[in-house]
Amino acid sequence: MRNMSDKLTVTKLQENLYRIQEDSTFMNVDAYLICGQKQAMVIDGLGITPELYECVKNITDLPFFMVVTHGHPDHAGVGMKEFIEAGCQVYLSPDDEELVKEYAGDVDLSVVKEAKECFDLGGARIKSLPMPGHTQGSVMLFWEEEKLLFSSDAIGSGSLWMQLPESSSLEEYLAQLKELELFLEQVPDVKIYPGHSWQVSAYIKEGCDFMDCEYVKELIRMTTDIIDGKLVGEKKEIPLDFLKDIDIRCVTGNYVTDYCYDVRKIHSKKEV
Ligand SMILES: [Zn+2]
Repeated sequence: MRNMSDKLTVTKLQENLYRIQEDSTFMNVDAYLICGQKQAMVIDGLGITPELYECVKNITDLPFFMVVTHGHPDHAGVGMKEFIEAGCQVYLSPDDEELVKEYAGDVDLSVVKEAKECFDLGGARIKSLPMPGHTQGSVMLFWEEEKLLFSSDAIGSGSLWMQLPESSSLEEYLAQLKELELFLEQVPDVKIYPGHSWQVSAYIKEGCDFMDCEYVKELIRMTTDIIDGKLVGEKKEIPLDFLKDIDIRCVTGNYVTDYCYDVRKIHSKKEV
């Protein structure tokens, strides 16, 4: 249900880059708009607040499309539906389509495609980096020229949810994180814009709305220590029905302030 206080807030982060934040009773979540010379890309479809499509049209005259980073309802919500209904191309991993159907129900995904390896917006090349873990179909997007990584929920925003039924085991996730670390070694001055940037400011560093390589390195250290049994999380209750049977633990670091995982999904299932 939409509350009258729900709204979209647009922030120009730099030339040709905008954050569109949904401040709602449901979730504070970010979409991003990147404008090239030929076309524009919207990253994520927000949750319940309508008029993302109108909002983007008011910012740019370029043709635009949307890449949805994963199938959770705060990223693949009403904005994604608006884009599909307006005939805009929407990209989403097939691995997360079931999730969208579970949460959104009536949305027509027949026109949705899997993200290309690289989108050329004209002077702005955006590479798609699959990052299964938080969900199986999670992707991150990397703007090559500006060295900006849009990570959505794939590595969290200080808070990280890996306890979900659709999340990977921590062993599988660690392999993905190490691949990401290798990639980021080529871009040590990367800025990482997550899907819930307010958390960065609230929990990691006041006034800051992005993360950096140190965050990823800490995430790798913490995940390794959990797997090795050197780090054991506190028991955590999250009052959501679909999590009631999950034994959730939570660990806290300097940057990764609230890392939730399922104690029964630390190790990968062994082949019998
Ligand atoms: Zn998510």
